[in-house]
Amino acid sequence: MLDANTPENINKLKPTSKGFSGPHKKPIKSKEETMEYREHKEVCDTLEGAARSIIKSTPDSLEREGLSRTPARFAKAMNFLLQGYHLTPQKVVGEGVFSSEGGGLVSVNNIEFYSMCEHHILPFWGNVTIAYYPENKILGLSKFPRIIDIYARRLQVQERLTREIVQATHELINPRAVMVRIKASHLCMMMRGVEKQQSFTITEYALGLDKLSPLETDRLMAVFSEQK
Ligand SMILES: [Zn+2]
Repeated sequence: MLDANTPENINKLKPTSKGFSGPHKKPIKSKEETMEYREHKEVCDTLEGAARSIIKSTPDSLEREGLSRTPARFAKAMNFLLQGYHLTPQKVVGEGVFSSEGGGLVSVNNIEFYSMCEHHILPFWGNVTIAYYPENKILGLSKFPRIIDIYARRLQVQERLTREIVQATHELINPRAVMVRIKASHLCMMMRGVEKQQSFTITEYALGLDKLSPLETDRLMAVFSEQK
C-alpha cells in the first residue's frame, strides 16, 4: 500500500486524465464490506446452524465447554473439505502444461485423496493412479494431486470422481489416451450399514483406449495391475 505522506510516493499519486493513479483511485472497502466476505459469512452461518441442529438433536448441551465452539470449528472444517466447488482445472494448473518430449506412457501412482460421500456426508478416502499417453502436451506431475482435490473436495461419489479426473486431464492436455483407477474405503460402509471394515471399492474410467496399439494397451494396463 502506498503512503501519500512519504516523499517518494507523492509522485505516484499525481492526478492523471483518468483520475488519481494511486491506490486511492477507488474508495477502499473494508474486508467486511466485500461481496466475497459476505458470501463466506453466509456459508459459515449456514454450516454453524447445521452443526447446532445436530448437537441439539442429542441430549447433549451446546453450553458444554467441549461443544460450545464446535459449530464454528465444524464450519471451518467443512469450508476446507468443500473448497473444490470454487476451483477449476485451469485455475489450479496455471502454467503447468508443457510440450511433450515423445509420446511415451506417463503414470502417477497412488496419489492419496480424501473426499465426502454425497449420500451420507461421511468421508471416503484412498488413492488414485493415473496413466496417459501424451499427444503433444504433458502436465507437470505435481498438478495431478491438485486436479484430484478439485473434485475430491466436494460432495462426491467415487464413480463420478474417477470420471471427472479423466475428463479434466483430457480437457487440459488432450492426451491420446488416459485412464484413472481409484481404490477407496468408505466410512458409510465401515461405521454403519453393512459395517464391513476391510472392504474397499475400485473404480476405473478411461478415454481414448481405442487409439492405442495392443502393445500400448498392455503397458497401460500393467500400471494398474501393479497398483497396491
Ligand atoms: Zn455413503
